[in-house]
Amino acid sequence: MRKPIVAGNWKMNKTAGEARELVNQLRAVAASRADVDVVVAPPATAIAAAAEAAQGSRVAVSGQDLFWKESGAYTGQISPLMLLDLGCRYVIVGHSERRGRFGMIEAGFTREIRALFGDNDATVNLKTRAAHAHGLTPIVCCGELLEERRNGQTDAVVRGQVERGLAGLTAEQAAISVIAYEPVWAIGTGETCEAAEANRVCGVIRASVGELFGEDAAAAVRIQYGGSMKPENAAELLASEHIDGGLVGGASLNAADFGAIIEAAPRG
Ligand code: PGA
Repeated sequence: MRKPIVAGNWKMNKTAGEARELVNQLRAVAASRADVDVVVAPPATAIAAAAEAAQGSRVAVSGQDLFWKESGAYTGQISPLMLLDLGCRYVIVGHSERRGRFGMIEAGFTREIRALFGDNDATVNLKTRAAHAHGLTPIVCCGELLEERRNGQTDAVVRGQVERGLAGLTAEQAAISVIAYEPVWAIGTGETCEAAEANRVCGVIRASVGELFGEDAAAAVRIQYGGSMKPENAAELLASEHIDGGLVGGASLNAADFGAIIEAAPRG
């Protein structure tokens, strides 16, 4: 049995004070659901406050990104050691908003803005390996653009991202990784992928992990769904065979909604 993992990706939201308040509100639900791993990913500026508020609770703290070097002349970057120093146990890697696959072509983003953060499968791989090298659990994101789905490329895109993103890991590292399937067209749009289809693609991801790292890794790796997960659709998604949790954006910003999603996880 894989333990469900529900993570809140706060993106560029919450000051340190707001982070402290939200974590304090989440302590009770995390305590009452010891069968679910509860994670919050504040912006870097609020990690310290969130981690302090989470002390002695079941709320774990994650970075939203990391750089793969330990220190050096990399202006604006955050190293694995710095995340560990603040008390992080997880780190999100390769979120679509960082990949230059922003997908919000419809929203009128220019090519320059969509490529602003510039992550690609090669940097995702460096970051994933750096996370493991330092004992941080990476939450590695993958997912297709709307045009790729329309072109029937979903499975190939996701398989490629998993293969290149996890390249060079040991089977043990693959097994303890978390993979988030986040169809880009469903992120922040209110559009959710149907549970059956989300489960199918998560099954494709699990099969990829099996081909690359063996059956034990495939059986152990936890795969989250992300993309407009909310209290109303969480139970069906989280009950699906291959969906072991959620990576939640908008609905993780208030304790009532995020708490309801945690409560919606199947009881272990
Ligand atoms: P959303 O974001 O829940 O607001 O769609 C999910 C994510 O980007 O991780």
